[in-house]
Amino acid sequence: MKVRIFDTTLRDGEQTPGVALSPDQKLSIAKKLDALGVDAIEAGFPIVSEGERIGIKMITEANLKAEICGLARTDKKDIDAAIDCGLKYIHTFIATSDIHLEHKLHLTRDQVLEKAIEAVEYGKSRGLQVEFSAEDATRSDRDFLKKVFGEVAKAGADRIDIPDTVGYSTPQYIAEITKDAIEASKLPISVHCHNDFGLAVANAISGIQAGASCAHVTINGIGERAGNASLEEFVMALQCLQFENKWETGINTKLIYETSRYISNLVGVPVQPNKAIVGENAFGHESGIHTHGILSNPLTYEPISPELVGRHRWFQVGKHAGAHGMNAMLKEYGIVPDENQTKQILAKVKAIGDQGKQVTDVELLSIASEILGERGIKRIVQLTGFSVSTGIGTMPYAFVKLNIDGKEVHATDYGVGPVDASLNAIQKLTGEIAEVRVKDYSLASISGGSNALCEVTIKVEDPYGNMATAKSIGEDIVTTSVQAMIDGINRIMLKKMLKEKKVDN
Ligand code: MN
Repeated sequence: MKVRIFDTTLRDGEQTPGVALSPDQKLSIAKKLDALGVDAIEAGFPIVSEGERIGIKMITEANLKAEICGLARTDKKDIDAAIDCGLKYIHTFIATSDIHLEHKLHLTRDQVLEKAIEAVEYGKSRGLQVEFSAEDATRSDRDFLKKVFGEVAKAGADRIDIPDTVGYSTPQYIAEITKDAIEASKLPISVHCHNDFGLAVANAISGIQAGASCAHVTINGIGERAGNASLEEFVMALQCLQFENKWETGINTKLIYETSRYISNLVGVPVQPNKAIVGENAFGHESGIHTHGILSNPLTYEPISPELVGRHRWFQVGKHAGAHGMNAMLKEYGIVPDENQTKQILAKVKAIGDQGKQVTDVELLSIASEILGERGIKRIVQLTGFSVSTGIGTMPYAFVKLNIDGKEVHATDYGVGPVDASLNAIQKLTGEIAEVRVKDYSLASISGGSNALCEVTIKVEDPYGNMATAKSIGEDIVTTSVQAMIDGINRIMLKKMLKEKKVDN
């Protein structure tokens, strides 16, 4: 059975505290969502601002496959503003709970019902597709809610949405009111669930099991307060878990990770590392028992294959590491230690882990080369010249000279600060041979004072999902960052070239 995906990243998601998008940004996100395969995009709330209307208009004119919807209160001016943006589909809402009636709207139940009917009739008279939401449905009187749904259906609504506005429902209760809504309206039902108690996806799935045909979701679960049901969790759960019915969606799941990263970067809301499906750690393994299992068959500790959502599994060594996982990582760099060497490398790795420290790829390789007595690991990229300038009233600027596989190259670039400028210049140079981007950058000070040592940890990634972490310690924040970046790039290029069997190491 097909489940309709109504994405509200650009409306409820944009209502995340601290998030505001420009019209161009809204359009670029809408295009990503369309490519991902969502059925409907809630592009925004037209009445809120001029910029919002411009953004929505750009989206309605972009010829996307998805249906484009806009939010409107049950007021004519809101609905008119939606029409002015070129929208043919509105999501109109009014609260039905006594809490909202008494403390926000100052209306009686009868007045609310009247406004709901008027808005639906007005929307239909203007030729719109109308989805009606009873805001705070899950805290509304159940009989009144049922009555509202029945009446708006009679007034001509095309769809009914059940918003769990403050994430107050249990899976069982939302199933019951979904059945009420179907009985009262005989219309397609959507569920709009919030994550205040971490139940948004569970509630959305329960709504679907009870007969709803659509869920309102957002990428990365962004949205007001604790956010909305997350698209990636909802879609993958429907597709992969055991249900009596077989559910499907129009989502191209292989684009999920890319879309999640894109939107996280653009809206400036990081994804928590342990977030299901799209979190950094969702397909990462450190413990020896787990990596051993994974290496013999990924099914042992992965419910789904990471490739299904456009990702790759990764291993990290640390205090829980085992020989199998560690050697699998070394093998990616072409290093195959014997049993005795493995023991020695592992002992050093665990000693670093016991100090409460993360062991980066670069450190693992330097430990390995120390024990294997090799002349170090092949460095493809070497830093041969470097300077930066920064100050007030001037744009930070960096000059970088590299030797890439024997060839001298140089570049200059700007940035928000000297570190950013330097990394940009490096990326300019290495871009042609290894499209490497900085995935994570962290800076720690090791001791106090202005001459303190700093520790920079950089995680870099290429478009093929190869990842490497590098750590560098020094007195100068900028040169230390540059060194870590170069180390990371070398690791990634080595991994890539070994995969393509271009070098022996
Ligand atoms: Mn909401």
